[in-house]
Amino acid sequence: MGIIKVLLFTLLAVGVFLVFKKIRKVSDDKVVAKSFGNKMLGCCICETHIPEREAIMHRDKVYCSEAHLKQGLGEGE
Ligand SMILES: [Zn+2]
Repeated sequence: MGIIKVLLFTLLAVGVFLVFKKIRKVSDDKVVAKSFGNKMLGCCICETHIPEREAIMHRDKVYCSEAHLKQGLGEGE
């Protein structure tokens, strides 16, 4: 008789695991969809257009790389 309880418990555990996995996948998909929103931003130093997720934002300005960020900061002050 004990084995039926073990089986039920195992099924329940697997079910809970699958539900959590599904929820997690859905939220991952949302994050991916957000980061792939093809918004392009222009670097304020060289005007190269780069995806928003790769851009470096500082004080409402956009930089394509750390080098241009430093250049921008140097010119700003
Ligand atoms: Zn640049």
